[in-house]
Amino acid sequence: MADVTIHPRSSRLSGFYQKNVPERVALLTKWAALTADETAVLEMGLSVAQADKMIENVVGRYSLPLGIGVNFLINDRDYLIPMVVEEPSVVAAVSYAAKLAREGGGFRTGSTEPVMIAQIQLLDVPDPAAAATAILAEKRVLLTLANTSPTIAQMGGGPVDIQVRQLPQTPTGPMTIVHLLFDVRDAMGANAVNTAAETIAPVLERLSGGRALLRILSNLTDQRRAWAEVTIPAQSFTNGAESGATVIENIAHANSFAVADPYRAATHNKGILNGIDAVALATGNDWRAIEAGAHAYAARDGQYRALTVWAVRREGREGVGVWGRAGVIHAPLHLYTPTPPLPSLYGRLELPLAVGIVGGATRTHPVAQVALKILGVRSARELSEVMAAVGLAQNLAALRALATHGIQRGHMALHARQVATAAGAQGIEVDLIAAQLVREGQVRVERAKELLIKEIKC
Ligand code: NAD
Repeated sequence: MADVTIHPRSSRLSGFYQKNVPERVALLTKWAALTADETAVLEMGLSVAQADKMIENVVGRYSLPLGIGVNFLINDRDYLIPMVVEEPSVVAAVSYAAKLAREGGGFRTGSTEPVMIAQIQLLDVPDPAAAATAILAEKRVLLTLANTSPTIAQMGGGPVDIQVRQLPQTPTGPMTIVHLLFDVRDAMGANAVNTAAETIAPVLERLSGGRALLRILSNLTDQRRAWAEVTIPAQSFTNGAESGATVIENIAHANSFAVADPYRAATHNKGILNGIDAVALATGNDWRAIEAGAHAYAARDGQYRALTVWAVRREGREGVGVWGRAGVIHAPLHLYTPTPPLPSLYGRLELPLAVGIVGGATRTHPVAQVALKILGVRSARELSEVMAAVGLAQNLAALRALATHGIQRGHMALHARQVATAAGAQGIEVDLIAAQLVREGQVRVERAKELLIKEIKC
């Protein structure tokens, strides 16, 4: 992002996890300058009355934990990341990876303009080629007509292009598809672009001689992408007897597996979305839309693949690496200096991210409002870039664990508390039973119940 100011606060909050909830809330309140009302919202959450205004047939509320991902340095600015997630170890893992990323100077991010795509499906078009010509000839008129949101126009957004695609073979016959590209500024934009699509559909019918059926956004928002990159020195990955250089090579191998194999890629990308969805939920964004876009984008060349690149860069002082999708370094030999190469791990994540800081639940959910204040993002683009950095960090944490001691050690230690709770432990018992389960290497509800009975008898 061009407009980056150095933030005076550091998100490097060592020992945050060891504090109790009131202590964490106090720290966060100070860090984000929350008001007393905003701090109260963190505990109260959504009221039933508010919930009743959000969806239909409301009978109650369903709460999930809100945690804070710490240590994030993105474009030289510190961020605390509100995350709503039910899975243990996600927040701990992302915070650890963000700490590693700091050792390489943090994340660098970027994004496209927030351009959404609305699709208008035209059926029974007598001459598809002539229809395309007629529609494109009236582009200016169509764009003027599609300018249906005065607020978005005032913000500098609005319709930006019209494209025509032909689908000559579908199960029910040929169809012509019109794409309306629409810059939605700080909104997720579904409602805005759907309105515009419905507005221009009758004109498209006249121009094409066909019949407009569907008029709705595409969740494959490939015109609206965000990306994050990180480069971390190998020594940050030293793991007991295992050298950092070995660990980062193994991380690159782990990524290559997911680039080449859809079975692995599904799990790899799920890990990325663990973090991204958690921020989406915390900020009231539509995580189903994000999921749909991410998975469709991951299959854009016809095979479902990893959304990330992880590669070892071995550079002398003047070495320049160019990376491929499979994590292979292609570097012109003459660019290497004779000095021994200093390996580092380079990572990049790019994906469609249609998120907003206005509209939808971002405005109606009180916790989403506080979450946005904690993040301190000033635009939807900035939010999408932060989310890309979170996804990359989440992936790094998973790959590092998988490529070293395996995922279960850290995960089960944190999962044990949930198992103890499921077995009926309360208060102080939860941590005692969880610690015993981890010591025994048996993180199972049945064992937790046995321990609990023993505890009660003693
Ligand atoms: P929205 O209509 O609630 O809010 C967007 C509106 O906010 C804009 O049209 C504009 O009038 C106003 N606005 C104020 N300040 C703005 C600014 N700085 N930049 C841009 N707009 C500004 O919401 P939306 O973003 O159009 O739609 C999001 C909602 O649509 C989500 O709840 C989503 O779940 C839902 N939705 C999703 C899909 C899908 O993904 N397939 C389909 C339909 C609806």
